[in-house]
Amino acid sequence: MADNGFREMERTIIGNIWTSNEAYDTLREMCDDIGHRFGGSESEHKGAEFIKKKLESYGLENVRLEEFPMASWERGEASLKLTAPVERDFSCVALPYCPSADLNAELLHVGDGELADFERVADQVPGKIVISASETNRPGERGSHRIDKYNWAVEHGAIGYIYINQNPGLLHITGSIPGRDPNGEGAAAREAPIPAVGVSWESGSMILRLLERGVGKVELKTNNRTYDSKSFNVIGEIVGTEKPNEVVLMGGHFDGHDIAQGAGDDGAGAVTGMEAARALAAFKGKLKRTVRVICFGSEELGLIGAWRHAATTDPDSYVFVMNLDGAGRGQGGQEQLNLSGWDELLPYFEEFGREHHYDFTVRNQLNSHSDHFPFAVRGIPNGTLNARDTSAGMIGRGWGHTEADTFDKINPRGLQMSAVLVARLMLKMAQDDAFPAKRRSVDEVRQQLDEAGLLARLESSGRFPPQQQT
Ligand SMILES: [Zn+2]
Repeated sequence: MADNGFREMERTIIGNIWTSNEAYDTLREMCDDIGHRFGGSESEHKGAEFIKKKLESYGLENVRLEEFPMASWERGEASLKLTAPVERDFSCVALPYCPSADLNAELLHVGDGELADFERVADQVPGKIVISASETNRPGERGSHRIDKYNWAVEHGAIGYIYINQNPGLLHITGSIPGRDPNGEGAAAREAPIPAVGVSWESGSMILRLLERGVGKVELKTNNRTYDSKSFNVIGEIVGTEKPNEVVLMGGHFDGHDIAQGAGDDGAGAVTGMEAARALAAFKGKLKRTVRVICFGSEELGLIGAWRHAATTDPDSYVFVMNLDGAGRGQGGQEQLNLSGWDELLPYFEEFGREHHYDFTVRNQLNSHSDHFPFAVRGIPNGTLNARDTSAGMIGRGWGHTEADTFDKINPRGLQMSAVLVARLMLKMAQDDAFPAKRRSVDEVRQQLDEAGLLARLESSGRFPPQQQT
């Protein structure tokens, strides 16, 4: 391996991470003691304080909480009864921001819930409760996101949505749904227009089987509360010596879903960033650019912390933003970096893999569903590094967004391997004199969003063109 100019620093990083249980122990405490860390809840606020203390103990600089107002949500009882063609009760969970409701309506199966599916049965959707799988991303395929399906259901006149988990195991599927007013931020705007619940693969399969016998009718009751609250991003830095105003940012979201521990989504990713920062803190006063670690709050409720941070920091200060949603999972060695449409960066990261004899997949496709996206909207070079957990052979989110996203699925070696890769990538970006990408103009971003089919909804929600807040 040729000396890249900072091999000695890499030895320190790898030795430090490889001989430490810090990341694993930290995640354990977040999961077993602090709990789900649902956005805006007391558990999330405790998590923020806990992470802040950790970053301080690692010797990071400018450690701080970035507070922002947001709407949180409290779960109540939910019940689902099929009343025709036969009577059956099914267990369900309401999805975050689901309003309270008491519905009796016909049930309509909308296939995979893709736009084409809704269009095919458009005349039948009004007044019905629709049912489909939540997400159907089989390996190598790209299906639509739960939120897209929800929006199509609302636009076509559905009055409720039942999402089926895409994996077996008697696990409910959850995930937030968008609010009635895309331009509003308070609880009234954030509460969803129609109720949505998640059921297990097994319940969903049975409902679909029973529907083959005749017209289905369901009774759906939900009882929840959307309320005004606050949330936090947690931030720490190693300030650069030569170019302190040029920032390389890394971090995952530390909030989770209230039905689980949020271990793999995304406690592991948050802790991966913290661990990489801990190792890089050994080089205080020796890094050229500033390395910033962030643990985003309230990602699961609409990327709220990331939108906030992207809007309140100088977009020209960023060299690169590395989102860590999904990092640290699995056994290690299955990391992948997904760039948000940055062809000029592909060779930079591929070369890194070759030079380090460390294989990780580098892909390049813009998507809108995690914390990198608010930075992408501002034209900032960015990507998401995650690690697949293939142990259970599941599709889509795997354990994520179910009760089974728990600490026991996390492997200490998987955390270490993600943290080592992230720390080395950050070191390189902090030290390289030149970085082969620069911020895109508003027009360039507009074109990119348009090509990805994301522009119209962003414009109508007031997210594009982006406004700078103070
Ligand atoms: Zn996540």
